[in-house]
Amino acid sequence: MAVQTEAAIRGVDAYRLAKRALEQMEQNKIWPTPLNYELWLHALSDPQGDIGRELHRLIAAGENLTDAMAEDIALQFLPRLRLTEEIRDAGDQLTRQLEAIGAAIQVAQSSTNEYGRTLEGASRELASASEQTSLRQVVEKLTVSTRRVQKENSALEARLSQSTDEVKRLRDHLEQVRRDAMTDALTNLANRKAFDEALAREVEVAAATGRPLSVALLDIDHFKRFNDTWGHQTGDQVIRYVATLIGRSSVHPRLAARYGGEEFAMMFPGEDARSMSAALDALRDEIASRSLKRRSTAEDLGIVTVSAGVATLHPGESPSAALERADKALYESKRNGRNKTTNAETSLAA
Ligand code: GH3
Ligand code: MG
Ligand code: MG
Repeated sequence: MAVQTEAAIRGVDAYRLAKRALEQMEQNKIWPTPLNYELWLHALSDPQGDIGRELHRLIAAGENLTDAMAEDIALQFLPRLRLTEEIRDAGDQLTRQLEAIGAAIQVAQSSTNEYGRTLEGASRELASASEQTSLRQVVEKLTVSTRRVQKENSALEARLSQSTDEVKRLRDHLEQVRRDAMTDALTNLANRKAFDEALAREVEVAAATGRPLSVALLDIDHFKRFNDTWGHQTGDQVIRYVATLIGRSSVHPRLAARYGGEEFAMMFPGEDARSMSAALDALRDEIASRSLKRRSTAEDLGIVTVSAGVATLHPGESPSAALERADKALYESKRNGRNKTTNAETSLAA
């Protein structure tokens, strides 16, 4: 979801926005399907965005927004739908494979039935056959049927093994799509979506077991300087360096993720913020312990430091509320001179 929309639907004006969306949809005779509503929210919260401009263009042209048109717009401008589409495609292919297997099995079954009937007929004929010639005819007929069934069986086998390969390929592809959707491409850490989903699950576990759960946010200090001085590519190299240390840090989080541009999130099931503050300090020290070299020219980039904020989930607290407190603690670390960890549970300002 676009940042503006994300902010608008959880902001102070959220209900007003929702009402306006429904009113405008009614005025323009747009059905309030979930998809149309989502598009309308995008259009209202970001009128100059792609979706806003597209919807206004259609309305100005007096066009009726059909379901197909809405899906087209969503497919083009809502990235998560593009992913859904890919999954749907793979699902369709799987269904086709399964249908093909079903059909092949049916053909094999009917030919087996027919073979059974041929055998029955042959045994009747054998019972009454007295002369050599008719005996030979029966055997010849049986040989022909047996060959045909053998041929059909091996065709079925080939078809089945081909379909099995295809199903395996599709399953791997789906698995890859799922992994990609959860992974940050620059750092290979989990992405924000994966983190938020895992955190929601861990919050439930913590609520059910009474075990503590802590979350931390880390942000690279003065990162803009790296970008401005050395360019975006070197900036990316710095992000990857920090991500690598976070990923293999001796602080053992349940999950570490790249949460935004140069911001990372970690969660620690079973741990409270106090013990995690100490562990995060060790991680910060490790990050700051090396002087980086620019990969392309081997120039000295100096050291990179990060600031951190950590919070322990309060009873009944939502994941986003805990993250918000960790974020406030992080900004207190920034205010206090950076390269620091602030514990939201003990800091008065956070
Ligand atoms: P502070 O210590 O207060 O965090 O200072 P900062 O310079 O790190 O401040 P800020 O968070 O405002 O700057 C983050 C910058 O990171 C802004 C943005 O241009 C840049 N950025 C965001 N994502 C990426 C990325 O993927 N690669 C690179 N190279 N830069 C990015
Ligand atoms: Mg930042
Ligand atoms: Mg920063």
